[in-house]
Amino acid sequence: MTNNSRLSKKIAAIAESATLKVDAKAKALQAEGRPVISYAAGEPDFATPAHIVDAARVALDDPKNFRYTAAVGLPELREAIAAKTARDSGWAVSPSQVIVTNGGKQAVYQSFQVLLDPGDEVIVPTPYWTTYPEAIQLADGVPVEVFAGADQGYKVTVEQLEAARTDRTKVLLFVSPSNPTGAVYSPEETKAIGEWAAANGLWVISDEIYQNLTYDGVRATSIVEAVPELQDRTILVNGVAKTYAMTGWRVGWMVGPADIIKGAANLQSHLSSNINNIAQRATIAALTGPQEPVEEMRLAFDRRRRLIVEELNKVPGFECPVPEGAFYAYVDVAGALGKTYRGVTPTTSLELADLILSEAEVAAVPGEAFGPSGYLRFSYALGDEPLVEGIRRIQALLSE
Ligand code: GLU
Repeated sequence: MTNNSRLSKKIAAIAESATLKVDAKAKALQAEGRPVISYAAGEPDFATPAHIVDAARVALDDPKNFRYTAAVGLPELREAIAAKTARDSGWAVSPSQVIVTNGGKQAVYQSFQVLLDPGDEVIVPTPYWTTYPEAIQLADGVPVEVFAGADQGYKVTVEQLEAARTDRTKVLLFVSPSNPTGAVYSPEETKAIGEWAAANGLWVISDEIYQNLTYDGVRATSIVEAVPELQDRTILVNGVAKTYAMTGWRVGWMVGPADIIKGAANLQSHLSSNINNIAQRATIAALTGPQEPVEEMRLAFDRRRRLIVEELNKVPGFECPVPEGAFYAYVDVAGALGKTYRGVTPTTSLELADLILSEAEVAAVPGEAFGPSGYLRFSYALGDEPLVEGIRRIQALLSE
């Protein structure tokens, strides 16, 4: 870092979100008329279900929605989130334990801000979502990576976590289903990890944004459901973006002990205040209305999951375990590196992603965005036809 940076050291040290960056690059190429197929951003291709959009329309006719509302969120929405948390995470919370945020991303950011003092360590199971280490560092914390590869289904063990624990460890980050790998911890694995965290007096930040997107009869068990003793030291992060195809509405939330949520509320009251009231009204409809559209989307993701994994495993040098959740396939591409394709010899997944984009017009996010090199992430939240076509292009390129 140069001393003469015009930016603060903190901001100069962070990079642009790699997922958003690759997505923007793919969209720019598409806008130029290039036939790019993008597996970059984790964003459902479906429209938000009609009854949710209708609720927003109705909200537009009510002038009280044009005013400031409580920074923590509308009371009816906090209640709906409390009910959802009891239903899906097995934790009976009061609305005072809920704060509504501008997407899951603000919930992640605020969770680290309210828990960390300078130098506090956060154990980050790796591969991790690209935003976590930056959000930890913005809160003056230290991310400590614990890596699990394809050979262990991208899931860390208690032994690995224990080996990473120091007397500065304050928080365990737990993400199941995982972005970027789609891995889902079993109830037994979740319990063992939760018990280890409780026994060592750690806090847990559990990102449950993909909790409703699981397949093969698997259910994502919340760490607080597996180990209720953690209720006093856990923050759950969640939102409607992925489950309800509502990425652009920007509605997320934190659930936690009342004193922690009060701290987050104080922060949010200076940062962003209430989130858009129209989006909050739509979210009430999402959480309390019919859930059939969610099931339809989940079934489509399930079909695409099986399709893409089958096709990815046909690419020479690619190895992709079957993910049980979210909408990502995380491919170990080590076997495809170091070979020459059209005069180019990629030795890292970053170089391979560049080659695939320039030669096959296919966008995927390289492993470097999520931890070590040697992997590519494919979001399969896109239509069946381009889904298969893009992977076939890669098969053709890497078979040459
Ligand atoms: N969370 C999604 C992803 O990982 C959306 C982009 C982002 O915010 O990172 O692709």
